[in-house]
Amino acid sequence: MSALLDVENVWKHFGDHSVLRGVDLTVESHQVVCLIGASGSGKSTLLRCVNLLETVDDGAIHLDGEEITAVRADPDDVRKRIGMVFQAFNLFPHMTVLDNICLAPRKVHRVSRAKAEARARELLARFGLAGKADAYPDRLSGGQQQRVAIIRALAPGPRLMLLDEVTSALDPTLVSEVLNIIRELKEGGMTMVLATHEMAFAREIADTVGFLHNGVLLEHGPPEVIFTEPAHPETRAFLSRTL
Ligand code: ADP
Ligand code: MG
Repeated sequence: MSALLDVENVWKHFGDHSVLRGVDLTVESHQVVCLIGASGSGKSTLLRCVNLLETVDDGAIHLDGEEITAVRADPDDVRKRIGMVFQAFNLFPHMTVLDNICLAPRKVHRVSRAKAEARARELLARFGLAGKADAYPDRLSGGQQQRVAIIRALAPGPRLMLLDEVTSALDPTLVSEVLNIIRELKEGGMTMVLATHEMAFAREIADTVGFLHNGVLLEHGPPEVIFTEPAHPETRAFLSRTL
């Protein structure tokens, strides 16, 4: 059985700066992988490469056994299978919550309005936002906006979710409601790769944790190993600065 996501020897350069240097990462279905590492270590770039928002300079990425970094791969088709959520909420301010969530299913996946809305309302109810369907984003708290952004990414039914520091822009009091939705996704079996600064959360939710250091995935393993007996001095130094 092949992995859901297989990142193989991926290199990415910006000018003469090598931002990803031979990253290998395998994610099985229903696994949650947390990427940790200092700011600038390459976490966002790696996630953006998986979603084809960046092109890789060398190496390959496979999703469901298909090489998505191949020249013939269709980025729109790949992104239909991947949901991505960013640090800033990126909701469309001129659209209601319901319309934000229905946009991709209707325009990209060609789902009927009735079907898209039914699914959106079901997701809103499941994540405690049933009353917000007709609200505009500026009427929601940051935590609610980020929960809507996650629901919007989920609406098309992706195989994989990529979450890039989705709590970093939030007031600390609003972080837990967003972490709760991620916990629920894990319980539902969603495969996820998260870049996060929330070490306690990573330790709790991750099946495996990867530590990126200057574009190298220096170590990758179960949280109890990475957090308690990391193999590399760089990992120890990073953790001692953050814990
Ligand atoms: P992280 O998410 O771990 O903070 P990033 O992936 O955002 O790290 O960035 C890794 C490195 O790549 C940083 O040095 C950053 O400045 C650089 N970088 C990211 N995107 C670009 C870009 N579009 N052009 C040039 N450099 C970039
Ligand atoms: Mg980042």
